[in-house]
Amino acid sequence: MTIFSKIIKGDIPSYKVAEDDNFYAFLDINPVAKGHTLVVPKKEIDYIFDQTDADLAAHTLFAKRVAAAIKKAIPCKRVGVAVMGLEVPHAHIHLIPLNEEGDMDFRKEHLKLSADEMQDICAKIAANFE
Ligand code: 5GP
Repeated sequence: MTIFSKIIKGDIPSYKVAEDDNFYAFLDINPVAKGHTLVVPKKEIDYIFDQTDADLAAHTLFAKRVAAAIKKAIPCKRVGVAVMGLEVPHAHIHLIPLNEEGDMDFRKEHLKLSADEMQDICAKIAANFE
């Protein structure tokens, strides 16, 4: 079972911003920007493009709703979208509030946010999810 499946199951805690029957969105624990969120399918699958067309479309549409909530909750020019999957073999879409190109640089030093800050960001995004 992947670490993300353990998170979805509730065995590992997470800052959940949205969930439905098939998808789960939560704050990245090691964010490159405030509001950095991961959107994962509950169905465990490694590579995003190995999903069926229907599942990929649903994954993207769920991420679209999460991105809209992030845009409302976190002041930013854009919500950037990235897929890498080099670390965790469970398909996930990174959604990252952007003000400039460098905000999406995964090689730079990541933010160190307190539990209170993470909870606050999480609650704001969750409150804007429709
Ligand atoms: P990738 O697989 O896309 O290269 O990177 C995996 C992402 O998942 C990283 O941004 C990393 O910070 C995040 N991540 C890894 N383990 C955990 C975890 O246990 N909880 C949360 N919230 N994020 C995680």
